[in-house]
Amino acid sequence: MATFIVRSPATGEQVGEHPVHGADDIAHAVVRGREAAAVWANLGWSGRRVRLLGWKRSLAGRMDELARTVAAETGKPVHDARAEVLLALVHLDWAARHARGVLRVRRVPSGMLSVHQRALLGYRPLGVVGVIGPWNYPVYTPMGSIGYALAAGNAVVFKPSELTPATGVFLASSFDEAVPDCAGLLQTVTGPGSTGQALAEADVDKVAFTGSPGTARKVAEVCARSLTPLLAECGGKDAVIVGADADLEAAADAVVWGAMANAGQTCAGVERVYAVESVHERLCALIVERARSLSAGETYGPMTLASQLGVVERHMKEALAAGARAPLGGPESVRGPYVHPVVLVDVPEDSPAMTEETFGPVVAVNRVRDLDEAVRRTNASAYALGAAVFTGSRRAGLDVADRLNSGSVSVGSVLGFAAVPALPFGGTGESGYGRIHGAEGLRAFAVPRSVTVKRFAPYADLTSFATAREKTARAVELGRRLHARF
Ligand code: NDP
Repeated sequence: MATFIVRSPATGEQVGEHPVHGADDIAHAVVRGREAAAVWANLGWSGRRVRLLGWKRSLAGRMDELARTVAAETGKPVHDARAEVLLALVHLDWAARHARGVLRVRRVPSGMLSVHQRALLGYRPLGVVGVIGPWNYPVYTPMGSIGYALAAGNAVVFKPSELTPATGVFLASSFDEAVPDCAGLLQTVTGPGSTGQALAEADVDKVAFTGSPGTARKVAEVCARSLTPLLAECGGKDAVIVGADADLEAAADAVVWGAMANAGQTCAGVERVYAVESVHERLCALIVERARSLSAGETYGPMTLASQLGVVERHMKEALAAGARAPLGGPESVRGPYVHPVVLVDVPEDSPAMTEETFGPVVAVNRVRDLDEAVRRTNASAYALGAAVFTGSRRAGLDVADRLNSGSVSVGSVLGFAAVPALPFGGTGESGYGRIHGAEGLRAFAVPRSVTVKRFAPYADLTSFATAREKTARAVELGRRLHARF
């Protein structure tokens, strides 16, 4: 079988070699997954919960090992990788503990016309879910689909990025070890984009994709052919809004972390800041002071995807050519494999640094007249994933949050929502569609099943030819009158 080699983005050293899986391997994995899903179904809610929590405990025990794998493949510091694993554990824990409450069969009101029926709503698993993941958070991001899909009763075939296959292999093998009576429920297939395409073309019941909007479109085209449902978690161009009476120290601290952590390679990372005129200069000074103290290679790692270096450099050059200033760094900050922190100011709104995902440790801080203009500019983006608001009061922050299009908003912090598993996560527009996390994230991997149970014979059975026509007419007329009045 053909193989591919993985190199450390920090050192260029070989860190792994993996098989290129093709359509036949994937077809086999889907069949095996379906068999494992049947065993999984027989375990019931509590059997699945116990096993998922067992897997979680085993991952927690092996956190360092997993974090070292992530660090070797992405180049990020091990302390960042450990924090990422913790976030994934929080989500796996929540999904395991809440699946029953969210998805079990419940009674719903049957309504006046069907008072003789009991109405029951339940959810059944989809079957086998294909998960296609990115490299930037190779544990946390796919776990938003894997953990919730397994908890909802499905099997998963996971295709990690070709930059982080060992992380994917670790997840599947650790599941098999922790849950031996359901081995094969989570399988990892490795390879480049063509392996992802083969997974989308396979006999899976849903595809959960996380990656760029361009690739999402390709996957959507493939899924459209077989009517396979798709969940698309794509990029972002998140903005932070800073009001006149905000705590500027706190805002600057959050902006710098949100923009520079993981070298800016975060889907919901901070890429734009809109600060009202009266505080813009002071905020910029605070952001520059903090960003200057960071050290690429220590505080954060290299650009994991080498080709991103060129994108980051182009965004900066075009912004500066269009009239922006750079109080910290500039194109010379791109010294592969690292990009040193860059702060841009007064960037024209139509510049790629404001419209496209930069995915580097670069933040653009623009001035706005007031919060209304900040909201307008934030919402003008084709992306709508996350956003953050810093204002003098929480109430004012909530008012702004209410007017934003993004899927998630943090008031007084950045990325506050990422660590709250009960909150659904996802965006609209170029940021994709569908939701992971929370109750919506569980329902995303289940199909509603509606059941009625006849309790007694109604006065006029509208589903029987034996019902006298006058009775039916009387019942319909009664219904009409009620709807005409109320
Ligand atoms: P890509 O879109 O390049 O790749 C995503 C995944 O799709 C990878 O596993 C990739 O494989 C695979 N793939 C590539 N081509 C195809 C194809 N034709 N059919 C099926 N699968 C394919 O994204 P990146 O990996 O570069 O990740 C970065 C992007 O992900 C950013 O835009 C970021 O914002 C977004 N992201 C979104 C998140 C969210 O939750 N909204 C979270 C994290 C990241 P391979 O890598 O082997 O080419």
